[in-house]
Amino acid sequence: MPINSLNNDNNMDSGFFNGVWEAVRPKNPVNGQRYFRLIPESLEYTLGALSYKSAIHGSYDPSRAVCEELKTSEGRKMSFERLVRETGEKIAKISDRPDLPYMFKVVDAKEDNAWCMPGGKIAFYEGLIKSFQNETRDFGVGSFGLEEKIAAVMAHEIVHAAARHSATAFEFWLAISILLTAFYEGIAIIFRDVDGNLPDNLPWVVELVLDKVHAISMTLITTPGSRAAELEADKYGMVYLQRAGYNPEVAVWLQEYFASQEISTESKVLDYALSFFSTHPDSTDRAEANRETLKLIRDGALR
Ligand SMILES: [Zn+2]
Repeated sequence: MPINSLNNDNNMDSGFFNGVWEAVRPKNPVNGQRYFRLIPESLEYTLGALSYKSAIHGSYDPSRAVCEELKTSEGRKMSFERLVRETGEKIAKISDRPDLPYMFKVVDAKEDNAWCMPGGKIAFYEGLIKSFQNETRDFGVGSFGLEEKIAAVMAHEIVHAAARHSATAFEFWLAISILLTAFYEGIAIIFRDVDGNLPDNLPWVVELVLDKVHAISMTLITTPGSRAAELEADKYGMVYLQRAGYNPEVAVWLQEYFASQEISTESKVLDYALSFFSTHPDSTDRAEANRETLKLIRDGALR
């Protein structure tokens, strides 16, 4: 609060309301748009840390897999773990939320996969890194090294953390659950008998409404948030690549690679916390969108 406003009682009030407003409707640090926040930041971190711990528990031996292409400053071959961590730290530092409790781990699994939990807890599957290492095609985009390919996925995941995508998905699920519970409870209160039991057959109109409510809530959960989140993570991920000194064009290469794997409807880079909601946009469309973003970045319209 500026010093000259201390004498003004009205400003004290508006200061209080501004504080509440900022807590409930903060600005998304990535795109600047206001959003509703149901869970505080501390709970976001705790949730992320707990699910991360259980998801990656005992799943990787950092000394096992090393990168043939890259060496550490001590001249040793760099472990995948270190390569992923250093790439992550580099991008996290220039992100819109550099102070999140980020963690970057490699998981011992052969699928092409990577995910991000609330608070910036990121995991890469060893399978994805090896696929990148073995993939020599340039898809008409260009050749990129292993670190750049990892950076393309990493930047995408870090936007999910910075823009609170997985936390928002969780909140959305929470809000829908509360509404559904209230709705079903209301039905129960109206139709239950003196012993508290529901009749075997509810009136058909009620059955129909229950069916529709279920279908609509499932659609809400599975479609829009996730598509929008994926496209936003692609777009600002490319901005982060540019800021961190990588060539953002590698993000076009990445989607061409996934398109070549014929996994168009369900991208293999899915985000664990978001995977319940996954209706990932088609990789070919995403490659096209990334080409458009590349133009904006090169023109200086997006930075
Ligand atoms: Zn994603």
